[in-house]
Amino acid sequence: MKNCNYFTFKFELITCPKCFWSGQGKDLKYGEFFEDSFIAEFLCPNCIDQVAFVQFPMTEEVKKWEAENPGKKTGWEEE
Ligand SMILES: [Zn+2]
Repeated sequence: MKNCNYFTFKFELITCPKCFWSGQGKDLKYGEFFEDSFIAEFLCPNCIDQVAFVQFPMTEEVKKWEAENPGKKTGWEEE
């Protein structure tokens, strides 16, 4: 499984190692969310295999990223 950056993975090109589906991180399906570690699994939309996991940031990390990347879209705005 690929360890993806919360802020950038939605626009990254991701390829499923199992079925070779290829697309952007935002096209992946949500898998399991581990509340104790804030880690979410993302699944291939074609074969539903796990292809990525993402560590969700703390509020301070979001503020820091926004300050360092003004106006940059993460893909989370659409939700
Ligand atoms: Zn797949």
